[in-house]
Amino acid sequence: LDADPPLQKLLKAASASVKTVEGTDAVVHWMRMADLRVVDNRALSQASKRAREVDVPLIVLFVISPQDYVAHDRGPRKIDFVLRNLKAIKAGANEGRSLKELNIPLYVTTHSPRRTLPTGVINILKQWNVKEIYANVEYEVDELRRDIKILELAKQEDIKCTLVHDKLLVEPGTLFTQQGKPFSVFSPFHRRWIEALNKNLHWIAEAPMPTPNDCEIHSHSSYADLFNQEVPDEVEGFQCEDREKMKVIWPEGHSAATGMLERFLRTKSRASQLGAANPLEEGAESSAKASRALAYKDKRDQADRDTTSRLSPYLSAGVISCREVVRAAMDLLKIKGVESSRDTGVGMWVQELAWRDFYTHVMCAWPRVSMGRPYQEKFADVKWEVNEVHFNAWKEGKTGVPIVDAAMRQLNTMGWMHNRSRMIVAMYLTKDLMLDWRLGERYFSKALIDADLASNNGGWQWSAGTGTDPQPYFRIFNPYNQSEKADPTGNYIREFVPELGGLRGPDLHKPSAKVAQKLGYPLPLVDHSEARNRALRRYKNPGTE
Ligand code: FAD
Repeated sequence: LDADPPLQKLLKAASASVKTVEGTDAVVHWMRMADLRVVDNRALSQASKRAREVDVPLIVLFVISPQDYVAHDRGPRKIDFVLRNLKAIKAGANEGRSLKELNIPLYVTTHSPRRTLPTGVINILKQWNVKEIYANVEYEVDELRRDIKILELAKQEDIKCTLVHDKLLVEPGTLFTQQGKPFSVFSPFHRRWIEALNKNLHWIAEAPMPTPNDCEIHSHSSYADLFNQEVPDEVEGFQCEDREKMKVIWPEGHSAATGMLERFLRTKSRASQLGAANPLEEGAESSAKASRALAYKDKRDQADRDTTSRLSPYLSAGVISCREVVRAAMDLLKIKGVESSRDTGVGMWVQELAWRDFYTHVMCAWPRVSMGRPYQEKFADVKWEVNEVHFNAWKEGKTGVPIVDAAMRQLNTMGWMHNRSRMIVAMYLTKDLMLDWRLGERYFSKALIDADLASNNGGWQWSAGTGTDPQPYFRIFNPYNQSEKADPTGNYIREFVPELGGLRGPDLHKPSAKVAQKLGYPLPLVDHSEARNRALRRYKNPGTE
């Protein structure tokens, strides 16, 4: 365990915070980047309950903090997705699920520098004479430290600040090994996780919807302006060049997320990767027997069909809660508990949600992983190549390895990549090109619409062999073998690497130099077996070669 993890400090500060206050003019829910929804949002729900109790209006606050986005390598697609979802929350017509329909104002403000953000928020509360604020916990180190500061300031100002666990199915800091330590290996974590969930089914219960504010709030001089305020279209420095395309592939709003969930649970996969993320998409075939969810066990690693849920952008921004997706999956199975075995498609899928929990649990216990340090400290000194030409070729999908190039072009086109492809390109960057995993982590974070610090870091450290994975560093993917498994039809490579569109069979996965030259396709940057040997040497003796 890293010394003094900030989550423990935060929980300590929270337990010593102001307990009762009187005379608040409103209750505030501070909505953060990972809880962009009205439905099943614990902090919002609790704030609403409290506002009812003390008979005051509820206000939702969102603070744009551009310096935090720079510090966290947030990309324009993610920021644009956040703004689009805020607009949907504020004013979207959404069957009673937008704040406008509930008569609740959403106030969006921009704050810089990040260092003074806690004071900025406290000042807003003072200006509104608000003494009670509710927020869901953000588990990243900087955010935990910020919230510790908020708690300190709130105490000085006699403001009650309630922080709520919402992001995960099982909150961090609650599961321990028999030795009383946090889990650093997934399988035992998963066993304990499913046991704990099934013993505590209320953990997946739905948080009640907020109650509408009284109508008079509209005419209240202090709050009327909040209703008229617009959510900005963009944040300076984060202009999203391909916004229109992203809107089609990843539409915003809770109903788009539930549509995506339905599509996964009840319709069959398609061969093409691109297209509207919508259950009513052209060609969607409804199937009770062979839906993506039911076929997930056997088909999930196939990058040549869209076999997975594609819910990651929605889960990572909290447009839908992890509880809602698990409840829906259990409804499909018609069971009361939570099934997460490797025996069924749905169970296997719930296991992926356990990975999502796991990586945040790891980050909370060992915060260094999210601060550029390897989980396995012995790999801090692995010697990396410095090669901008190779790095650029990887980013652009021009490495000469078709599966790697298809995957990177999928990322650049869609803002999203299939999980197996993520593993293949991450392994290729770190083991074949011998480039530092942090470069890849940063590029992913900027390009992904589903960027999540803990999952991204966990995935990169898993692939680089520096993370919690008990498999030793010498697990090195052969990208050509991986290609045949992940893309058996070749449709994936043909879709994203059109210059190879005419190829079939082994040629497609590993074109000969002659074929590649004829088609204007690059030759491989490195020879896989030589690169593999280099990686083995460098990992075996970090810092020596
Ligand atoms: P599904 O297969 O339908 O899975 C359902 C949900 O489970 C996902 O939406 C996601 O929330 C969660 N999940 C699935 N696999 C994982 C996993 N391995 N780790 C953690 N959560 C998982 N996921 C992100 O959400 N954000 C990231 O920034 C991110 N970066 C990654 C980087 C690398 C190098 C790797 C190998 C994986 C990364 N993942 C990340 C995990 C995973 O690839 C994506 O969550 C998944 O591909 C999203 O597609 P889906 O929603 O169709 O997944």
